[in-house]
Amino acid sequence: CGIFGVLGVQDAANFVALGLHALQHRGQEAGGIVSHDSEQGFNSARRFGYVRDNFTSTDIMQTLPGPLAIGHVRYSTAGSKTAAIRDVQPFFGEFSMGGAAIAHNGNITNANALRRELIERGSIFQSSSDSECIIHLMARSLQRDIPARMEDALRRVEGAFSVVAMTRTKLIGVRDALGVRPLVLGRIGDGWVLSSETCALDIIGAEFVREIEPGEMVVISQETGVESRRPFRQRKSRFCIFEQVYFSRPDSILGGRSVYETRRQIGVELAREAPVEADLVCPVPDSGTPAAIGFAHESGIPYGMGIIRNQYMGRTFIEPTEQIRNMGVRLKLNVNRALIRGKRVILVDDSVVRGTTSRKIKEMILDAGAAEVHFRIASPPTAWPCFYGVDTPQREKLLAANMSEEEMREFLGVDSLKFISLDGLYRAAGEAQGRDNACPQFCDACFSGEYPVEPADMIEKGFKL
Ligand code: 5GP
Ligand code: SF4
Ligand code: MG
Repeated sequence: CGIFGVLGVQDAANFVALGLHALQHRGQEAGGIVSHDSEQGFNSARRFGYVRDNFTSTDIMQTLPGPLAIGHVRYSTAGSKTAAIRDVQPFFGEFSMGGAAIAHNGNITNANALRRELIERGSIFQSSSDSECIIHLMARSLQRDIPARMEDALRRVEGAFSVVAMTRTKLIGVRDALGVRPLVLGRIGDGWVLSSETCALDIIGAEFVREIEPGEMVVISQETGVESRRPFRQRKSRFCIFEQVYFSRPDSILGGRSVYETRRQIGVELAREAPVEADLVCPVPDSGTPAAIGFAHESGIPYGMGIIRNQYMGRTFIEPTEQIRNMGVRLKLNVNRALIRGKRVILVDDSVVRGTTSRKIKEMILDAGAAEVHFRIASPPTAWPCFYGVDTPQREKLLAANMSEEEMREFLGVDSLKFISLDGLYRAAGEAQGRDNACPQFCDACFSGEYPVEPADMIEKGFKL
């Protein structure tokens, strides 16, 4: 999901709509905005579909006045797949000291247990979303102000959470102790901005100030500026390495490093680790593009656009059902026949998950007359599901959970298949010494099976580590 908040500018909701538009790659199912205005109080609008199709109409935007607003773009992981509008964030709660709205990116790994406990004690849930637990935990806290209630609530929550929240006067941002999901602070005029990624600061002309640190809570008001709190026990950060590979936009900066540069460097590492003689390096657009540029540069093999992407399609894997996803490949990608014919082609993609996309792409390339097809993948084999906010399928559906590399090559029907090593990936992400196996610098559970937070709900459901 993508989260965004603005405090201290006129009609803050307009800025939030623009910010969410720049974060649309993080969730395309639905979006919502809550604003506060001293005369009209809290207002909210939640809609299915793209930001640009909903939050551009003056009819909607006029209902969201005020200098403070937050928003969310949804990509369902926990909660129901066929989302109901009641599952669309931000969620709102009314407390004795006033209202608060929250938007959450990530996944709460003990949500089932919390929900059971809360329902037994009288909470009335409105949605199927794990994030709603935070509101009910806040309602039960005895603290006298809303940020302190949020601290109480978040100390009971396990898993990955970046949160943007608001009261009548305050904008609040929090990252979990491991900092699995991103969150940055920006400045616009006299106002403040919180955003999942820096690319959404750029769109509204806000200046990047700094990242919210893992385990940090910032409470921002016009009068007092940014106040930093530390609600959680200090731990070593474990940022999601898949944000670097795929999830974030390449024009964002993560941990002081350009995402584009990391991805290009993955291609360089891949070319060193798994060279092959060929005539053409092609990305599977858009996610494989920077790595393909790096691969071509390092190997000296010409780069070409052998696959053309229809720009009017979204990200296929974010479409929630398998049927739509299967159609998606053809609707989205087509082969540039004139370029491919007769050539030995290296295809660079970000990941192999189920293998369905990769298999179709290989067929399309061979149909177009390629002499050989070699796959180079910008992440290690995805052998484990993510329980921290990226929607990987169950373990049984992951190709790499069931097959060796050679079996996968055969299944995909390609001349060669190589994945970047975990160490190579870490080097590309700026860790010159590679992965510190005793204490890894990132979360890489979907590749290594080492989960930095025990996925309690899933273990209860029978998942085996
Ligand atoms: P596959 O070959 O596994 O069907 O698809 C791999 C390609 O689709 C990659 O380019 C990846 O970006 C995207 N993809 C498809 N399904 C998923 C998924 O469930 N999770 C993730 N993270 N990526 C996916
Ligand atoms: Fe990111 Fe993978 Fe960890 Fe999920 S399991 S947070 S996708 S690195
Ligand atoms: Mg892709």
